[in-house]
Amino acid sequence: MEDFVQLLKDKFKILRTQDVTRFISKNENILEFVLEKTHFINNLYVDIPMFQRLWHILNDNYKPNKCKNCDNYTNFKTMTLGYNESCSQTCMIKHRPPRIYTKEELERLSKSMSGENGPMYGKSVYSVWVEKYGVEEADKREVKFRSKQSKSMKIVYDNSSQEQKNKSIHKGEKNGMYGKSIYDVWLFELGKEGADKRMAEFKLLQSSLSSGENNPMFGKPSPKGSGNGWCGWFMPNGWFFRSLRELSYMINEIYNKNLYWENGELKKYKIKYVDWEGKTRNYFPDFIVGDKYMIECKPKKLHNSPNVVAKKKGAEKFCKENGLEYKLVDQDKVEYKIMVKLHDEGIIKFTDRYEEKFKTYIHKESNLKRS
Ligand SMILES: [Zn+2]
Repeated sequence: MEDFVQLLKDKFKILRTQDVTRFISKNENILEFVLEKTHFINNLYVDIPMFQRLWHILNDNYKPNKCKNCDNYTNFKTMTLGYNESCSQTCMIKHRPPRIYTKEELERLSKSMSGENGPMYGKSVYSVWVEKYGVEEADKREVKFRSKQSKSMKIVYDNSSQEQKNKSIHKGEKNGMYGKSIYDVWLFELGKEGADKRMAEFKLLQSSLSSGENNPMFGKPSPKGSGNGWCGWFMPNGWFFRSLRELSYMINEIYNKNLYWENGELKKYKIKYVDWEGKTRNYFPDFIVGDKYMIECKPKKLHNSPNVVAKKKGAEKFCKENGLEYKLVDQDKVEYKIMVKLHDEGIIKFTDRYEEKFKTYIHKESNLKRS
């Protein structure tokens, strides 16, 4: 029996995932073996794709994958990433670890938060409600709060164009949204102390997120053979980025605003389109935000390129049929120094190849500064 495992591992080395799953489906003995080996997930998921089963076998993983924070099961992501770490966005946000600060930042934070000694300090709104009204009433209030919250977030997202939003975000506090909904969410989730920290952190990050023009690193063309762009993981939610544009969009427009999002790489978002040669192909968008927008991040200068236009056509058709709206966006790239900071704090991790590249860049940068 065990040599089937080796056989599949060998196949996977030379074949694409879909060819291995096809091989499994066509081979009765192996199919039976795979189904039996992965029987334990049968009741946990609907519509289990063959590659999910294959993943368990390739990784010698024969138990259900549970959320790192609670007792729920997590969803399968991709062959490379395996399962999600958290069961849901809400669970993840609730258990998000505090960021690590540099000395300088801690000083700035403590200055901005001094004198906060009220009875509410450090307690979440929920725990105050529990104390005051008991669990039942607190739960009711929580539900009410969340439904109000999700409405206000949708409105915020609907009301302004990308450009307007970018402008107002960079102006920081002037934007009414930040004074209210997001801070309220944080207050609710993290308590006053946590919310204040998060807000200070957010402003800090925001002030460093600006146009890539002054950025010594990103203006340069990538070295030969470097592929399409910087790729790696945004650790707070385990999402894999394929360009700095995608990463910047995640930080600026999704993570910092605590918006609900989904990875566009899910099977249900597979889009058929006809490429410029007339061939039918598949593609996956970058993000789905707030169950409403399908987001594709591309530099503005490429928005009219044949490839992007062809994908856009297919995506718009898909969106029409699925009640979504397609948006091609050009996000300012995260600045060099904030990249270094995010990298130092483990908030982003590059793939091995780009880790190497990043180190070289940092080295060159610090040499330049010294000379
Ligand atoms: Zn969970």
